[in-house]
Amino acid sequence: MKIENVINQCDDGKPRSRKFETVDKLIVHRIGESLGTTGEEIAEAFRDTSRWAAGSFTAGEHPYHFIIRKNGTIDQCLTLGDHAPHARRWNASGLAVAVIGDFRSIAPTPEQWDALTRFCGLWVLYGLKLFGHDELPGGSKDPSKACPGVMLNMDTLRIEAEATAAEYAKTAVEWSGVSFETYET
Ligand SMILES: [Zn+2]
Repeated sequence: MKIENVINQCDDGKPRSRKFETVDKLIVHRIGESLGTTGEEIAEAFRDTSRWAAGSFTAGEHPYHFIIRKNGTIDQCLTLGDHAPHARRWNASGLAVAVIGDFRSIAPTPEQWDALTRFCGLWVLYGLKLFGHDELPGGSKDPSKACPGVMLNMDTLRIEAEATAAEYAKTAVEWSGVSFETYET
């Protein structure tokens, strides 16, 4: 899992500060390829506030803390203390990760799925709950919005993220000196 820090390049100049302690969930979104292939390109698209442009819906603000590219690279675009506009009333308590692609009709690439499960595993270990955008009531103006879409199955993601979190936790426990050896039965 590779995370690039591109916060300075993606900054929309409109920080809306919050305490990270208020965050208790990670919210998964899809973002269209037409807006860009990297976090920086997508940040650029959200700077355009002309009519119907991406930024016209967010007042020029970049809505996602993390973007997962097709090749599985994760771009961190915002500080975790930025209250970004991605899921309306859930913004203050949510961290947003957007995966590039339209998962109403296509599946994430294997590299994206691998990065996403590891990334979600980390946050599950940290104590955040995992949601798809459209699983949160009132998370969008459009009640029929499909985000991230059926091809990115949230139930499967939760199971894999839990398993990954358990692996990470075991590594930490072993690292502290506990032995997992058992008697043969
Ligand atoms: Zn969404």
